[in-house]
Amino acid sequence: MAERILTGIKPTGQLTLGNYIGVLKHLPKEVDRGECFYFIADLHALTLPIDPEVLRQNSIDLACFYMAAGLDTSKVTLFLQSSVSAHAEMNAIMQNYLYMGELSRMTQFKDKSAKMKESAIGLGLFAYPVLMASDIILYDASIVPVGEDQKQHVELTRDLVNRFNNRYGDILTMPKPEMRKVGARIMSLSDPSKKMSKSDPKGDIFLKDDLAVIRKKIMSAVTDSGSEVKYDVENKPGISNLLTIYASLKDISIEEAEEEFVGYRYGDFKKAVADVVVNELEAFQKKYREILESKAYEKVLVEGAKKANEVANKTLNRVKKAVGLLSL
Ligand code: ATP
Ligand code: MG
Repeated sequence: MAERILTGIKPTGQLTLGNYIGVLKHLPKEVDRGECFYFIADLHALTLPIDPEVLRQNSIDLACFYMAAGLDTSKVTLFLQSSVSAHAEMNAIMQNYLYMGELSRMTQFKDKSAKMKESAIGLGLFAYPVLMASDIILYDASIVPVGEDQKQHVELTRDLVNRFNNRYGDILTMPKPEMRKVGARIMSLSDPSKKMSKSDPKGDIFLKDDLAVIRKKIMSAVTDSGSEVKYDVENKPGISNLLTIYASLKDISIEEAEEEFVGYRYGDFKKAVADVVVNELEAFQKKYREILESKAYEKVLVEGAKKANEVANKTLNRVKKAVGLLSL
């Protein structure tokens, strides 16, 4: 079987430069490697409180962003997670094969629940990796492009696949997380010890930000003591983050980026980074606006859901049969 490539993004907020560099930018080319399934993880967005209107708007925005990145929608299946009920059904089955202990060790759960009272933590937030594993196995995905923070969840999916297949035979496809060499973890511009996250917007660059605002945010990014533009995550986390942004958008290595900036002052270096980011996002924003205005995403999502349902229901039936559920 050809490779299947699957990834999802949550419509929890405005997309950031981290989402773009870590995943979005690279999705269009994946069609050369296999069959691509990309989705809007709207069920996952419910794991933390979100206003219904905001969720609706974010979901539309996210569809436009996927398309603006340059997807060939005649080849890629783009869909809303909630349009494919097999995700919820697979989740109901798979929740019995992942355990409380391993779920409570997930970094994302620990991070996101850290500041919450226990009485306010929804079961969905805790059980997030079960739904994510269900998303992946439904499409027999072998490749899962993600940022570094999601690697742990894909590893847990691999454990689940092993566990399930050992018990029932060769039913599920083994997935592999795939991360960028440069840019798998873009940090906040105001606190480079923290990941840039759309639900925690301090120090984020949003893909929809006004270009002048983007430039300003980069020019005022936290830098480090010293004056050399060098990649040193420990001692120069701010400069290292900007070098990563620059290198990944130019598609060069960190070493090549460092060489370009030998002898540069921080201010001139930041200006060069801002130029690259603004240049990249200008065209992207234009495409995004065109897609939003024309509502071209509607037809794409409807057709995507049809295709996704077909594929997902097949896997669901295979799994139901394996565990002993009757389908009459
Ligand atoms: P949230 O705060 O709601 O979790 P997020 O910005 O982390 O939002 P997700 O929807 O959780 O975004 O993740 C979408 C994809 O983007 C995932 O593959 C994730 O690993 C990747 N990603 C998220 N943040 C970054 C980042 N700072 N750098 C690189 N990749 C990232
Ligand atoms: Mg996240």
